[in-house]
Amino acid sequence: MFEIKNISKKYNDDYALNSVTLEIGKGLNFIIGASGSGKTTLLKIISGMEQEFDGQVSYNNKDIKTLTNSEKSYFYNSVFGFVWQDFNLIEDLTVLENIKLPQYLKDTQNQREIVKIMKDLKISELINQKVKNLSGGQKQRVAIARELVKNPDVIIADEPTSALDEKSSKVTMDILREIAKVKTVIIVTHDTSLIGTNSNVFELDKGELITKHQSEPIKTTKEQASLKCRLSLKNAYSIAITNTKRKIGKFIITASSLLIAATLLLVSVSGTIGDSSTKMFDTLFSTYGDGILDINIVGSFTSAGGTGTGGNKDEPKADVKQNIGGMYNKFLNDDRVSHAVFLQAFSNIKITAEGKEYKIQTSNSVPVVNKLTAGKMPMGSGNEVVVPKSFIEKMNITDKQAIGKTISFKGEVYNWDSGQPIIMPVTTDVTIVGVVDTTVISEYEGKKSEYSVDDSFFFSKSALDKMRAQGNMSGDKINFSIRAKTPADMIAIKDELNAKGIVPLGRFELVEDMVRLNTQTTAQSGSATTLISVLSVILAIAVALITAIMRKREYAIYKVSGFNNKNINLFSFAEFNIAAITAAVLFLVASPLINKGTTAFFHADILNGKLLITGILLVVAMGVVSYLAELIVAVKTNAVTALKTGDR
Ligand code: ADP
Ligand code: MG
Repeated sequence: MFEIKNISKKYNDDYALNSVTLEIGKGLNFIIGASGSGKTTLLKIISGMEQEFDGQVSYNNKDIKTLTNSEKSYFYNSVFGFVWQDFNLIEDLTVLENIKLPQYLKDTQNQREIVKIMKDLKISELINQKVKNLSGGQKQRVAIARELVKNPDVIIADEPTSALDEKSSKVTMDILREIAKVKTVIIVTHDTSLIGTNSNVFELDKGELITKHQSEPIKTTKEQASLKCRLSLKNAYSIAITNTKRKIGKFIITASSLLIAATLLLVSVSGTIGDSSTKMFDTLFSTYGDGILDINIVGSFTSAGGTGTGGNKDEPKADVKQNIGGMYNKFLNDDRVSHAVFLQAFSNIKITAEGKEYKIQTSNSVPVVNKLTAGKMPMGSGNEVVVPKSFIEKMNITDKQAIGKTISFKGEVYNWDSGQPIIMPVTTDVTIVGVVDTTVISEYEGKKSEYSVDDSFFFSKSALDKMRAQGNMSGDKINFSIRAKTPADMIAIKDELNAKGIVPLGRFELVEDMVRLNTQTTAQSGSATTLISVLSVILAIAVALITAIMRKREYAIYKVSGFNNKNINLFSFAEFNIAAITAAVLFLVASPLINKGTTAFFHADILNGKLLITGILLVVAMGVVSYLAELIVAVKTNAVTALKTGDR
């Protein structure tokens, strides 16, 4: 029984209750009084929902004022049952799902008891109906059933009939009267016609107890065993699955907000992961060949205007001499360089291979590398040569078969040491280590032309040194060509050379324009996608917050059924888990479709393993963020303020 001694409660200097003392025992107890007289405040205090007041309240000798959160959970789940004016059922769930709700905190659910109580209250045939489709009278019976299945000692009902018609009111009162035969029932009402004989009546007026009709209160002093309520992981997922099923619209919105946010985040990080900007350069390479990234470093050349053909006659002719000694070796070990080859031209080349002699047409142009088609570039220390593909075709073997074959090379070089060209014969036996395509693609006044430089042979340093010795050539100033790995590398190397006073040869203007254009568009689309992805994250959080705020009443219902924050946390986690897994699976399955969108709008191709895995991780991360957002609302939900109590 409740022992209430001298309780007072003030709201802003006004007494809602003033020195109220009474005892409430087993049987039917009515609290009556005009609106605003303090009835609901009294119920809140005796049930532990309001713990700030003056005076003392105990239930079976247990001090209600000092109930801890876990004791409250136990009391709300097993000792006190609440019946409210507006039922406090979860409208989207079925009758059975509502009745079972408090039972998830118990290890075993008494299915037979549920069936019996539903039958007693004549709601058996409504078992699978959604609560929102029921009449008020039916709803109140469902609510009472939910509380009775808890098998509580006390039923506390605040204006249980105010929202009901006369007939349903009578039915509800009859049920409560029946319950009062075995339990403590406390009913707040202002409809005194519902009060029969044989009940205790307490009347409040302006916070004071003014009349009391009470037979000697029947004492109940059973000690409450404070058993722990706990939500198992299995039950948390049962709740989550039920909620997902019943609120499919909310689920779809949550899952798609996760999917959208993760996709847009992925787009904004894809630039750094997947290098989506290479497309622009791919066009450049397919138009001009890989040789577009070549930087030729030569000991001397005659600048524009001097050659007489095609040049501008007004430009001064200049003979440029530059000291390039030792530079080749430095570039050999430069990370930005994919290969470095000497540009030694030969004429009258004759090659003997496998007993056959081949004559190579002299082109009088600088040797050219477009692409390596087999093997490697001659950058090793042995006697190595890389030969043009056209020569391999003459030999009638494949590029791969050529690798490792030794050839006998004969040719002539020009020795310019005296200032005059002196023809010197040279010869060497070398091993083929690579085959190159020697096509030159050039554009002149808008017309593209292609030709192959068939006498492009490239020797390793040691092989070339030997031949230069035969040709009496002094010094180490051999012209060479390096291939930059990326357009940006090419420009960086050129700038470095310029700073040292070396003028390299190459198609720098074309590449530089491309690099500039690319960084611009990447930066622009980068900041746009960053903005969009930030907005999409905000959207996902907003969706989580809005749905959580809409669920405040629902969280409160869980709380007055005994769920603590940890329990609510666990099933909301399970709900987001289900949403995130769905979104991740959807992301994978729909990735070809999603990719169409991301390439069309953001030029971001996401169809590769790395980005798909990143996408899934982002979906999960968004799930966690949304879950945390919702959790904050759930934890902050105050059960009493979120539920309308009594007639207020
Ligand atoms: P009843 O249930 O009898 O209608 P209440 O117990 O709800 O009365 O309210 C008693 C008095 O306390 C009223 O004057 C009401 O305005 C006031 N009151 C109740 N709850 C609050 C609150 N949370 N904040 C401020 N005043 C309140
Ligand atoms: Mg009230």
